[in-house]
Amino acid sequence: MEIQTKLEFLGKAAQYDLCGEACGTEAHRQRDDLGRWIYPAVLPDGRRVALLKVLLTNVCVNDCYYCANRAGRDCPRLSFTPEELAAAFDAMWRKGLVKGLFLSSAIGGRPDEVMERMIATAELIRRRYGFPGYIHLKVIPGASREAIVAAARWATRISVNLEAPTPESLKRIAPGKDFFGSLFTPLKWVKELMEEGRIHLPAGQTTQFMVGPGGERDVQLLKLAQTLYREFGLQRVYYSAFQPIPDTPLESHPPTPAWREHRLYEADFLIRRYGFTVEELVFDEQGNLPHQDDPKMTWAKAHPEFFPVEVNRADYEELLRVPGIGPRSAKRIVRERKRGSFRYLEDLKRLGVVTKRAAPFITLEGKRPAFQMALL
Ligand code: SF4
Repeated sequence: MEIQTKLEFLGKAAQYDLCGEACGTEAHRQRDDLGRWIYPAVLPDGRRVALLKVLLTNVCVNDCYYCANRAGRDCPRLSFTPEELAAAFDAMWRKGLVKGLFLSSAIGGRPDEVMERMIATAELIRRRYGFPGYIHLKVIPGASREAIVAAARWATRISVNLEAPTPESLKRIAPGKDFFGSLFTPLKWVKELMEEGRIHLPAGQTTQFMVGPGGERDVQLLKLAQTLYREFGLQRVYYSAFQPIPDTPLESHPPTPAWREHRLYEADFLIRRYGFTVEELVFDEQGNLPHQDDPKMTWAKAHPEFFPVEVNRADYEELLRVPGIGPRSAKRIVRERKRGSFRYLEDLKRLGVVTKRAAPFITLEGKRPAFQMALL
């Protein structure tokens, strides 16, 4: 089988693994003129790069209900050898088409055997071809601690996809996977190995949740995400809105609306960057984030006692609670107000504040800026 065909087919099959900000599925990926799948991603250091995202194989013994590569599905099955994939990546890198690799795989045999082939690919790319850049390796569910240590020798980042926030919700979408045994334990090992100094991952570890068909609630997803950030040191948690795939047990399940995924990312951002806790966020009776407003606006509307915030005197944390003020604009406000008070919304707009959102929640030298809103 032509390498080109494998790149095309196994690149398409990898689309459901998220590998970074701006690394979505259909909307973001692109094919180069030879049909290879290249995805934009933002690296942990903020650089935007093109990644080759690909599966080593789509042969799988598992039967996850949502997956295009599940064992019971009738589709062509292809595999790379480590030599084939390493050489193909090297050719793309040398032509400047990609700056990094995201390598995942279906589970065509024992987890450690699959890991061995993934690790061999990464090792060839590093040692034979001298690639110094970004390699993200997915940990196969059920992989051993030793396999993780070996993967970390060549990887910049590794990830273990939990897929669901509880064993019950995982069972509804992937009954063959063991939440604690094959998913949570490897994730815990990565944390322990990093703490012990046995592995070093410059871009840490990440995970991904499938949102929707497991019947999980947003509050469950975000509570676990909060624990993963605080206690397991995860770099990022990704949320993937479920889209039904023909010829899978979930083909008739309604797709998860994009806005739900978007609200989860907004709430996740509040937890990581704004000092919010999940316990403070506002959920509906079902435990989901409301659709109408973003989570920060929902919180502000639910806490009239906190407002208005006097922009000229509030501390950084208080400013961060105001809709329309983010970490960057809050820092600028604190710095610039030393030179004199802010009296007009235009002053704040200059610093990056979204004044339409902020105006109802602030005062400027004791005055509500509502009258200026008409000028905006
Ligand atoms: S383990 Fe499950 S999610 Fe992964 S490739 Fe196999 S069927 Fe798909």
